[in-house]
Amino acid sequence: MAIMFISDLHLDERRPAITRLFLDWLKTRSSETQALYILGDLFEVWIGDDDDGELGKTVAGALRAVAEQGIPVYFQHGNRDFLLGRDYAAASGIQLLPESQVIDLYGTPILIMHGDTLCTDDVKYQAFRAKVRSPEWQENMLDKPLTLRRLLARQLRDESQQAVADKPPEIMDVNQQAVLDALNQHGVRHLLHGHTHRPAIHDFMLDGEPAQRIVLGDWYEQGSVLICDSDGRRLERLPLT
Ligand code: MN
Repeated sequence: MAIMFISDLHLDERRPAITRLFLDWLKTRSSETQALYILGDLFEVWIGDDDDGELGKTVAGALRAVAEQGIPVYFQHGNRDFLLGRDYAAASGIQLLPESQVIDLYGTPILIMHGDTLCTDDVKYQAFRAKVRSPEWQENMLDKPLTLRRLLARQLRDESQQAVADKPPEIMDVNQQAVLDALNQHGVRHLLHGHTHRPAIHDFMLDGEPAQRIVLGDWYEQGSVLICDSDGRRLERLPLT
């Protein structure tokens, strides 16, 4: 039995093959899954739990089927689906976690998060994040009619794509000092996150002791899963068939 971690699926009606890959994976691999953690950006965009789109319903049904087998499914918000709320959590049987959480991974305490807060070199993004994560902004957004929210979401996505294209790649990665600060703040030596789409296992030293940062991969050209069991941790790629 294994604990599975995924993030950055960016599920989107426009990429149905990735949704199929995810649904197949849930169905075929749940028998060996002890717990599933989704570390954000499950959806390319989330405009509110009252959105009645097919994709959200299909994914809720598939996640619920996993949860109903007694496999806990945990979710942390990403920068795309931070508006996902309690209603959708209830409908899909997932458990919402705070943005930073230390969990026990077979005896090793590990800090899990989406990872966007670690990209402190991207000052513009951090300012945007502070704005859209405020309760006032979110209440105001969720009060708008669905059609308007769809429009605004498309506009935000286009702006963000343009902003990403204009930024040098190094500022889109994590800042190592932010990584060390997060580890120290939580008193742990292991960190797991997604967001940067740079899957890797980084070993380094922290105060003279070995430390590790694991980065989950995105689901654009393939699926990507971190599989943890009593033997260790490995990043697995799932081919698109
Ligand atoms: Mn992200």
